[in-house]
Amino acid sequence: MSDPNLCDRCAALCCRYIALPIDNPKTVKDYDHIRWYLMHENIVVFVEKRQWYIGIFTRCKHLMSDNRCGTYLTRPRICRGYDTDNCDWHGGDYDYEHLFTSAEQLREYAEKKLGRPLVAGATKKRFRKKRSKDGRVRLALPVA
Ligand code: SF4
Ligand code: SF4
Repeated sequence: MSDPNLCDRCAALCCRYIALPIDNPKTVKDYDHIRWYLMHENIVVFVEKRQWYIGIFTRCKHLMSDNRCGTYLTRPRICRGYDTDNCDWHGGDYDYEHLFTSAEQLREYAEKKLGRPLVAGATKKRFRKKRSKDGRVRLALPVA
C-alpha cells in the first residue's frame, strides 16, 4: 500500500535520474554502442524483464532544495503515475537481470555472450584459438 509520508523522509531519489528503454543488443556493434554509453559519467545500463534500459543520473531542474517538486501542479504524467509502492526508496526490491555500471563489465558480458572479442585489436591478447581432437577450432574465452 502507498505511504504518502514516505516522501517526507526521502531525498527525492526518484527525481534524480531518468531511465529509457534501448534496443536489446544482438551484434558486436550493438554491444559496442552500449559500451560507449557506459564510458560516460553518470550512466548505467540495466536489463529488466528482458528489456534493456539506459539509466542517466541527472537531477530534475524542478527539484527544490527541500526535496519537493517545484512544479507539482504541472508535473509530467510519469511523475503523477509514480507512487511509493515499489519506488526507489525500497531500492533492494529491484529485480534486475543485469546491471552494468562500467564499460569493462559490459565488455566481459558481451564477449562471453557472443563468443568473440568486442574490441578490435584485443584478439591476440585476450583470445586464443584451440584446436580440439576432432580438428574443430574453438575460441578459448578468458576466464574471469
Ligand atoms: S516516491 Fe519513493 S523515491 Fe520518490 S520521493 Fe517518494 S519515497 Fe522517495
Ligand atoms: S517534475 Fe517534480 S516530481 Fe517530476 S521529477 Fe521533477 S521534481 Fe520530481
